[in-house]
This record gives sequence, structure tokens and C-alpha cells, in this order.
Amino acid sequence: MTPDDVSDRAQQAREYESLHNRLFVLRLLLTALALAVFLFSDGSAALVQGLASRFGAWWPLTNGVYVVVAVFGFAALTFPLSYYEEHALEHRYDLSRQSFGGWLFDYFKGLVLEMALALVFFEVLYALLRWAPDSWWLFATAFYVAFTIGLSAVAPVLIMPLFHKFEPLDNPELVARVTEFAQRAGLKVTGVFRWGLAEKTATANAALAGLGRTRRIILGDTLLSGYTTDEILAVLAHELGHQRHHDLTRLLVVGTTLAGLGFYTAHLVLAKLVHAAGFAGPADIGSFPILVFCLLTFSLLTMPLVNAYSRRREYAADAYAVATLGAAAPLTAALEKLATQNLDDRTPPAWIEFLLHSHPSIARRVAAARAAEKHVG
Ligand SMILES: [Zn+2]
Repeated sequence: MTPDDVSDRAQQAREYESLHNRLFVLRLLLTALALAVFLFSDGSAALVQGLASRFGAWWPLTNGVYVVVAVFGFAALTFPLSYYEEHALEHRYDLSRQSFGGWLFDYFKGLVLEMALALVFFEVLYALLRWAPDSWWLFATAFYVAFTIGLSAVAPVLIMPLFHKFEPLDNPELVARVTEFAQRAGLKVTGVFRWGLAEKTATANAALAGLGRTRRIILGDTLLSGYTTDEILAVLAHELGHQRHHDLTRLLVVGTTLAGLGFYTAHLVLAKLVHAAGFAGPADIGSFPILVFCLLTFSLLTMPLVNAYSRRREYAADAYAVATLGAAAPLTAALEKLATQNLDDRTPPAWIEFLLHSHPSIARRVAAARAAEKHVG
């Protein structure tokens, strides 16, 4: 690339980042507005009454249909936004390789999945609200942990294959290097998989996914095709760093603590507001907009905290990679390449990074990796 191309790409990345941030805020405002209208127009109460008059004592049925209608209604309302953000914008910046039909099919699969998860989650939550009105938040936290662990365990085998193809990595040299790498680090790698991203996107990615027997390293085919072996190993070393540091468990502990606090806050707010809003009690699913508003506000307010912690874990995984490789260059080269390919803003505004980013900016990661190199003997 010529210097002009590079600065064009950087300019595009800044635009792309800023558009996404605006869309994030827009989605938040739209969500708050939808919840308020649903609650204050008595639409929520009317829906519950209509369902309850049909299903009578079968409250799980009333609750279930209510959740499905709410999730579907919200998806319909925000469909133009989803289309713009996930399809139109990705094409405008040449990141997507999907047809509109292909994207729509994935969107519906995602929606059905989301609906199924919301159904299970809120059926349990409202059963707890009914059976344990004073201590539901404690049980809800325990349920949240089980739900998250279960989802993480099945994600690479049941959920991710719905959207992408996964195959065991077919590069014997790379598999041998990875296995040797992992052994030296004293880690058991249950599998290294090729992640079929290329048919849908121009972006590259890699991750550590699953729990226990489903724990695996997944490498985008977009990464495998465009990067040198050293760069791929650097990305792998970063993922192994996460595994070595038990980062999935750490994030689960943080998530659980915050979920507990969030449910308890919702418990206090519901007790204060539900009767005033004209509902029989917190177990009346008509008050769903209040519960969702509480949980969303709580997660929004604690998001900078979770992100700050996540960024620290990313730096630690990078430092691990540099120590394992004995040099920073392969990692920094891979990071620079990823930023260009994925249209990441290398130097986002500090306050945006602080509030919204789970990963440090590329410029900071590269600087930190070079500093870490000085400590490698
Ligand atoms: Zn990472």
C-alpha cells in the first residue's frame, strides 16, 4: 500500500468507528423509548391481560408468549437499524461478502436463537419472582452462572456452527507448532479449528472458545490465508495467554458478581415502582419493561468497568505472547495487519476506548508489546 492508501484507510477506520458509536447510542435511545412507550401506553398491561384471559392459570404460557411477542416486536422495530449496521454499512466499507438474502437468513437464525434464549431466561426469572419474591435475585444469579457456563460450553459446537463452518486445522506444520507451543506452556489444547469466515466477511479474527471438553482455539480462514506463520503463531500465543491466565473464568467471576448486584438493584427498584405503575407485583410480567430497563441501565453503567478489566486481560495475553515468542515483532505485525483488515481505528478517542472498548486500541497494544519485549531475557 502507498502512504496515501494507508491514510485513506485510517480515515475510513475513523469514520467507521464513529458511525458505529452513533448507532450504539441510537439503539440505546430507541430501546429506552420503546420500553417507555410499551409501559406507559399500557400496551404491556393489555398484552398480559389478553394472554391471561386466554391461558388462565397457565402463567408460564402467558409469560412465554409475552416474551416472544416482546422480543419479536423489538426486533421488528429495530430492523432498519440492524439492516443498516450489519449489512449496508459492512458493504459500504467493503467488509461484507454476503448477499442481502444471505444476511437476512443469518439475521433470522440469530433472531430465533435470541428468542429461544430470552424465553428460557425470562421463564426462569419470572418463576423465581413468583416462588421466591424476597430472594429471587440470589437464585437468579445462580441461574445466570449456570446459563452462562452452559452457553459457553455449547457455543463452539451448537451455536457458532449455525453461522460459520468449522473444520480441524488442516495445516500439519502449524498444528505441530501449536501443539509444541501449548506443551511448552503446560497447556492442553483440545483442538485447533479453521473458522470459515471468508465466505461472509473480509475481516479476520481468532478466539479461544468453549469450556472443558469443548475448549478450543479457532482461527479465521481469513487469518490463515493472509498472515505469515510467525504472525499466526503470535495470534495463537495471545489466545494461549488467555487460557494460561484463566481469563474466561476470571470474566465469569466478574460477570457473576455484577449480575448479582444487577439483580439485587432490580429487586429494590421493582419493589418501589411496580405497585405505583399499577401491577399486582414484580412477578406480574406486565412490569417486564421496568425489569429490562433496570437490567440494561445497570449493565450500561458497569460496562466501562467490565471493559477496563477486559482490556487489562488483553494486555496480559499480549505480554504472554511476547514472552513466549521472545520478541514483539510478530505480534505487532499481526496486530497492525488485523487493524488494517478489520478497519479498526488505531487511535480512537481515549474516552470512547474507556467507555466502549473491550480491547485496547492497536496503537496502545503495539506500544505495550514493545515495552514488554524489554523484559524478555
Ligand atoms: Zn484477546
